[in-house]
Amino acid sequence: MIIIRSMGKENLSYIALGSNKGDRFQNLSDALHEIRQDRNNSIVNISSIYETLPYGYKDQPNFYNAAAQIKTTHGLIELLDLLKSIEKKIGRVDTIRWGPRVIDLDILFYNNIIFSNERITVPHKEVAKRDFVLIPLNEIAPDYYHPALNQKISDICIVESEKTVIGKIQQKLI
Ligand code: ADP
Ligand code: MG
Repeated sequence: MIIIRSMGKENLSYIALGSNKGDRFQNLSDALHEIRQDRNNSIVNISSIYETLPYGYKDQPNFYNAAAQIKTTHGLIELLDLLKSIEKKIGRVDTIRWGPRVIDLDILFYNNIIFSNERITVPHKEVAKRDFVLIPLNEIAPDYYHPALNQKISDICIVESEKTVIGKIQQKLI
């Protein structure tokens, strides 16, 4: 039997992963596994995991944050739907903004597009403001040009008062 695979265009996307509830390493690892399981996606590169202080609502556990570069034949909204379904599967039920979450999966970039509607904004609004996004991203995409800022990832600076990264953890995502 011949299986006809999707021949859609291959797109490059960067995803931010975060967790501060339950087994944080396992949650990130499960999310990556789910992304990889989808045959429209392939993982190109994954950053180290960083432990970071909670942002916004401070009275909650530290986060683990990482970034991944993927190739995908999913369109932008399809990719968002997939990530939302993975969040659900892994057990995200929280709705409080900036509150504790089992898993948060955000699309940072999708090719070089600049796009916004009621469901999604890319580049993600927080990319240039949050060191817990930029530091892992800088490991895997230092030369990527932020299409809205026209600035390389490695050239974007975060003000001292906004710094949340404590350090890398030993365990690696594969
Ligand atoms: P957070 O802002 O902390 O990531 P949520 O994960 O609950 O909060 O996301 C809230 C909504 O943000 C999602 O339901 C989604 O529709 C929207 N959103 C807008 N832009 C993006 C993006 N680039 N990636 C993921 N979600 C996005
Ligand atoms: Mg999110």
